[in-house]
Amino acid sequence: MNRQTLLEMLQQQGVTRRGFLKYCTALTSLMALPPSMVSAVAEALETARRPSVIWLSFQECTGCTESLTRSYSPTIEGLIFDHISLDYHHTLQAASGTAAELAREQAMHENKGKYLVVVDGSIPLDNPGFSTIAGISNVAMLKETVANAVAVIAVGTCAAYGGLPHAAPNPTGAVSVSDLVPDKPLINVPGCPPVPSVITGVLAHFLTFGAIPELDELGRPKVFYGQSIHDRCYRRSFYDKGLFAESFDDEGAKKGWCLYRLGCKGPMTYNACATLKWNQETSWPVESGHGCLGCSEPNFWDAGSFYKALSIPDGDYARAAGYAVAAGVGIGAVAGLLNKNTKANAVAKHSSVSVDDFAVNKNNNNEGA
Ligand code: SF4
Ligand code: SF4
Repeated sequence: MNRQTLLEMLQQQGVTRRGFLKYCTALTSLMALPPSMVSAVAEALETARRPSVIWLSFQECTGCTESLTRSYSPTIEGLIFDHISLDYHHTLQAASGTAAELAREQAMHENKGKYLVVVDGSIPLDNPGFSTIAGISNVAMLKETVANAVAVIAVGTCAAYGGLPHAAPNPTGAVSVSDLVPDKPLINVPGCPPVPSVITGVLAHFLTFGAIPELDELGRPKVFYGQSIHDRCYRRSFYDKGLFAESFDDEGAKKGWCLYRLGCKGPMTYNACATLKWNQETSWPVESGHGCLGCSEPNFWDAGSFYKALSIPDGDYARAAGYAVAAGVGIGAVAGLLNKNTKANAVAKHSSVSVDDFAVNKNNNNEGA
C-alpha cells in the first residue's frame, strides 16, 4: 500500500514549508533532541511514510487512551495522530464487531512486516475467557497481531509490567506484554497513565527514524525515563534544605515544601512528569500538591502505602545523619546526598534504582527523612 509521506499529508492540508519546519522543531523538542537535529528530522519526515498502527486494549481502564485524548487542537499529539494511520483502536474506532476485526486483519495483511502494534492493558493467562474481544482471547489476539509487526509499544504500566490487574493476589494471572512477546523490538511506556507527550514522543521517534529509541534496562526510552521525578522536581530545593510538609494542609504544604514525608515516591520513580507535565503543560501531580505514587515503576501497587514515607537504608542513613547533626546540615540534604549516591552507584553498575534500594520506613512517616 502506497501511503502518503508526512510532508505530502501536511501539504494536502495546506500546511506551508514554514509550518512544516515549525512542526519539525516541536517534534525535535518533544523527542528531547538538540535544536541542531531539526534539519535531520525535517529531512527524515519529508520521505517518511505514515506507518500503520494497530492499538490493542486488554485488561485496562481506558486511562491510557483518555490521557492521550486529553489535548486541545491543534496539538503535537493531534498532528502525530493525524499522520500515522491508526487502523484499529477499540476505544476510538467507529467500526465494531466483524467490521472492526476485518480492519485489523486488513491492516496486518496490507502492511505485513511494517506495522506497529500498541498495547494497553495486561493479558490474563489463568483463563483465556477472562478477557476476550470478538470471541478471541487477549493472548491469542496479541500473538496473532504481533507476529508480523515491525515493533511493539506497551503503553501504560498494565501493559509494561502487569499493573493493577497483576497486583496481589493477581486473580486473573495477569502478565505484561514482554512476558508474551520475547522476540520483537519492544518499547515500554509505563505510567498510570503515561504522560501523553511521552506516548506521542515515542511514536514521533519511530516515525522519524524508523527505529526504536535507546532503552533502559526496563525497556523504557531513556530520553523520557532517564531521570527520576526527584531529579527534576521543582520542590527539590526544599528537600535539600530539609523543609518537609507534615500534612497536606499545614504551613509547609502551603509554602510548597517537599512532600517526601507525605509519601512521595519521586526519589525512586523514573518518568518525565516534572518536565513535560500534563494537560498542555498546565501542571503535574507534585505541583498540584500530591506526592508521586511511583506509577511508572514495576509493582508499584504492591510497594506499600502511597502515604508512607520512603526512607533510606538504616546503616548509611544513621551514620550520615550523625555527621549531619554534627555539621549542622539539613536532614533533607543528607537524604538527598545518599539518594544521589544510591542512584550514582546504580548507574555505575548499570542497574536501576528500585523501591528496594530505599527501605520503606517501618516506624512512622515523620521519621521518613
Ligand atoms: S521527594 Fe517528591 S516532592 Fe520532594 S523533591 Fe522529591 S519528588 Fe519532589
Ligand atoms: S508524578 Fe509519579 S505517580 Fe504521578 S503520574 Fe508522574 S510518575 Fe506517575
